[in-house]
Amino acid sequence: MKITAIRVRHIDESLWGYLAEREKTLPLVTPLDVYVQFKETRGSWFWDSGTALVEIETDAGVTGRGWCEDGCRAIGPIVDNHLSRLLIDQDPSETEGLWDRMFRASTPYGRQGLAMMAISAIDIALWDLRGRATGKPVYELLGGPVRNTIPVYASALHPVGDREVRDEARTYVEAGYTTMKARFPFGPGDGVAGMAANEAHIRSIRETIGDDIDLAADCYMGWDLQYAVRMCQRLEPYRMAWVEEPFLPDDLRSYARLRRETSIPISGGEHEFSRFGFQQIIDAEAMDILQPDLRRCGGFTEGLKIAALASTAGLPVIPHAYGATHLHFVAATPNAPLAEYFPLPCWATPAGPSHRHMFLDEPVPVGGNVAVSNEPGLGVRLNPEC
Ligand SMILES: [Mg+2]
Repeated sequence: MKITAIRVRHIDESLWGYLAEREKTLPLVTPLDVYVQFKETRGSWFWDSGTALVEIETDAGVTGRGWCEDGCRAIGPIVDNHLSRLLIDQDPSETEGLWDRMFRASTPYGRQGLAMMAISAIDIALWDLRGRATGKPVYELLGGPVRNTIPVYASALHPVGDREVRDEARTYVEAGYTTMKARFPFGPGDGVAGMAANEAHIRSIRETIGDDIDLAADCYMGWDLQYAVRMCQRLEPYRMAWVEEPFLPDDLRSYARLRRETSIPISGGEHEFSRFGFQQIIDAEAMDILQPDLRRCGGFTEGLKIAALASTAGLPVIPHAYGATHLHFVAATPNAPLAEYFPLPCWATPAGPSHRHMFLDEPVPVGGNVAVSNEPGLGVRLNPEC
């Protein structure tokens, strides 16, 4: 079998569905809070939603599909003007060699960021193609399953008002989730009053869900070391499962120092790329939980290596964000115990008519667990309206 064509299509919808647009309007801490004009909402500086769909065609008539974010519409040019020439006429089952060639060839302008996201989408498409060609689900090709259903955590709990947050947390308990994650509203620019509000948000949720449910919270890179140390001191009584991404991804010294100051597990990695990036996190003893996103860090081929590195350091891997890619990965990875899911909060109106779900057949959790598709490849169909 040989690759005959690679097509990249920009789709306006976000991989995170309605969540990406909603978070642009909510009061959440972000790394741009240090600038007054960007403080109010993420929408004041965030890029447009969008997904790059990569379709790889073969002379056997089998097509594989992969994807990554494409807010800057830069994935198409990277694939069309460079990476595709390394793939045409090659055997699509040679995932190791093709990945390595793309990585080496794009190194002068790549290694991280957009080039690695393009490689990720291609790699995901190659694994989907391999599954479709052999009639097997991707998790089986990856060596799984190590688990038949995937535990997912409810990832939402935005700071939208105390009553709403308590109601929302209660719905997740009732739905059977045993882990949930909130978002912090405030950072260093908001002083002690902001610290108190961050703590009150967590306290409301902990009071609502009781002691038998894990609670994590996300800082989206919006804190600094001194603030994080003081904030974690205030959060110690709430038995946090983890505090996520307190700092910019390159600030590994702050991550490592915070870990020494608190008993709360510190997580991160959704903005890290390749096994080399994750090895630096591990070497610095900077995190307790690694959260790679396979649509960014290098696809399945690199994700397996990152999980192997994590296993030698005793670290769990909990991939960032929901999607078929991560369900197959968790199904096949012993040290990946959990996946993230974005439920529709009870206070939120359902997605408007303009929103289209990109994928048909994307599995939905029942009782906090998701059954992975047994269909060939990734097992999701693209919405023809997208
Ligand atoms: Mg996060």
